[in-house]
Amino acid sequence: MRITREFTFEAAHHLTRLPGGPEPNHGHTWKLAVTLEGPVRPDGMVYDFVRLGEIVRRRILKLVDHRDLNRVLPNPSAERVALWCWSKLKDLPLAEITVHECQGCFATYRGEPEPEAR
Ligand SMILES: [Zn+2]
Repeated sequence: MRITREFTFEAAHHLTRLPGGPEPNHGHTWKLAVTLEGPVRPDGMVYDFVRLGEIVRRRILKLVDHRDLNRVLPNPSAERVALWCWSKLKDLPLAEITVHECQGCFATYRGEPEPEAR
C-alpha cells in the first residue's frame, strides 16, 4: 500500500549550470509529494499522516520555506531538490518523492542510484 502527503512551500532559486550562464533568481510555489510504502499495520495505517507531516516540516519545510534554495543546495533544480528531500527522509519507508517547480513541471525520484546526489 502506498500513502502520499502533499506539501507546498514558497522559495526562490536559480539554476547555475545552464549553457548560457546562470538564470536570474526567481520564486515559485513549490509542491512536494512524499509517498511511503508498506503493509497496512494493525492500527489501519501504513504510516501516520500527522507524524509524516511533523517530520517533513521539521526536516525540510523549515529549511526551505520562504528561503533561497541556492543557499540550501547547489544548483537547485526540481530534480536536485527531489534528491535532497529524499536524503532528508531516507530513514522512512520511501517509495517516491515528487517536486513540482511550477504548474505542470515536476521531477519524481524513486530511489534509483544517482551518483551526483552523494
Ligand atoms: Zn524556477
